[in-house]
Amino acid sequence: MAARELKEQGIPFEIHEANNRPGGKVQSIEVDGAHADLGAHWLHNDDDNPLTAIARKAGLTLQKDTASNRLAYVDGTRHGSEFRTNLSQYFDASKVAQVRDGNIADIPYHKLTNSPEGEDLIKRLTPTWSGVDANDASPSATALLKSANEPGGYVVKEGFQAVIDALVKEVGEENIHYNSRVKKVDNSQETSRVEFADGSTAIGKKTLFTGSLGVLRSGQIEFNPPPREVAAHLKGMQTAYMAKIVMKVDPQFFAQHPNLHDLHVNILDGDKTSLLNVASAGQPFVTLMVGGKEARRLETLPASELNRYFFDHIKDVAELNGLQAHLKGAPIRTGWSKAATSMGCYSSTNVGAERSGALSMGNLHFAGEAIETEYAATTNGAARSGQRAARNIAKELEKDVTEQLAPQVPPCPPQSFVNMVEVNRNQPAPNGKPWHFTR
Ligand SMILES: Cc1cc2nc3c(=O)[nH]c(=O)nc-3n(C[C@H](O)[C@H](O)[C@H](O)COP(=O)(O)OP(=O)(O)OC[C@H]3O[C@@H](n4cnc5c(N)ncnc54)[C@H](O)[C@@H]3O)c2cc1C
Repeated sequence: MAARELKEQGIPFEIHEANNRPGGKVQSIEVDGAHADLGAHWLHNDDDNPLTAIARKAGLTLQKDTASNRLAYVDGTRHGSEFRTNLSQYFDASKVAQVRDGNIADIPYHKLTNSPEGEDLIKRLTPTWSGVDANDASPSATALLKSANEPGGYVVKEGFQAVIDALVKEVGEENIHYNSRVKKVDNSQETSRVEFADGSTAIGKKTLFTGSLGVLRSGQIEFNPPPREVAAHLKGMQTAYMAKIVMKVDPQFFAQHPNLHDLHVNILDGDKTSLLNVASAGQPFVTLMVGGKEARRLETLPASELNRYFFDHIKDVAELNGLQAHLKGAPIRTGWSKAATSMGCYSSTNVGAERSGALSMGNLHFAGEAIETEYAATTNGAARSGQRAARNIAKELEKDVTEQLAPQVPPCPPQSFVNMVEVNRNQPAPNGKPWHFTR
């Protein structure tokens, strides 16, 4: 979105992408003409999301998932769709208001509850809400209460990746360099110099870095001078983890169970917690999502254990009885925390911390979901943050040009002024009249 904004403003740019594909943590797979999302899934906030307009313009099929077709299994007991609504009874309304209004200090959000039972439930839900495990430092209740993200949203039938493909077309494929991994960004001189892993370099007026929180944290990229503001910002963040197991299912199974379309099931079984998403946008897939440190453990399990892991998680979900006989092929597992270009999934705000909103140091700007304040941790936020950074860059460039074009009054030492007057005094005035000196 940053590049699209720059293009609109007529500012030339190059995109350097470490992967051999665009999209980062947006990635879809196609199986027998159906699409499943391995990374981002919902276009949250519907039309209040800049990516929705891109999807519409490209003629993609957006299906509204209100996240209202929802069940929960808590320690094996089934709860109906009222579960989500009933969660509000566990929150202490006065504490919520005081934290939101800043009248009491920030706390982890499981502490917004009014009973040990409520606290336990919210702690169990936290890994699938925020991608981190609930603890004394995280996640921030203030950040949650101020977040504009809404659950559910549009699901793209052609896969979220199709939105990125449409964006690439708008930006121009010719402006993207794939397999081009940034190693160093040197802003110690007037220009910005970027070095890549293959030894090549690029020089420009500005650099906008949009790599993830995990990548920034890892120190795999050298910034010169070191961006201290970024280090301060990162201190208030935690990398959030989310892993998915996607199961391909014979469409016949869903034809026989139409009530399963867009079904969300929270599974809260002891310390085993997950969110199950069934037949999203009518696609023949069941996706198990686990968050926090369990997501990292899942990524390291031998492939031979994935089937057992999946069915162990969903064993209580009566609605999926008989599913096993309809599976097609091996489970597909994501690996976002292991991949060098993501090193995690999104970001979570620690108690007492605040996101920066916009980060820039001289010619170096940062954007991405981890910088965003309002729509943090989502593609919506990443897109907005990129647009904002690009506009800031455009303003800075305009300012540079205005300064360069401003009439330069050369310093005028007193003797040269005197010399000029003496020369002129001996010349006839251009209008033939005698020179008239005012001093
Ligand atoms: C499992 C999962 C589910 C999610 N669900 C949703 C959802 O439903 N809705 C939603 O809105 N969001 C969701 N998210 C979050 C969403 O994917 C992120 O918020 C979003 O992708 C962040 O975008 P970004 O541009 O900030 O970072 P990224 O997507 O990480 O993009 C950064 C880019 O920088 C590249 N890069 C990294 N290092 C280098 C380097 N050294 N040199 C050059 N290039 C580099 C990467 O390859 C990548 O292309 C989900 C994420 C995951 C993992």
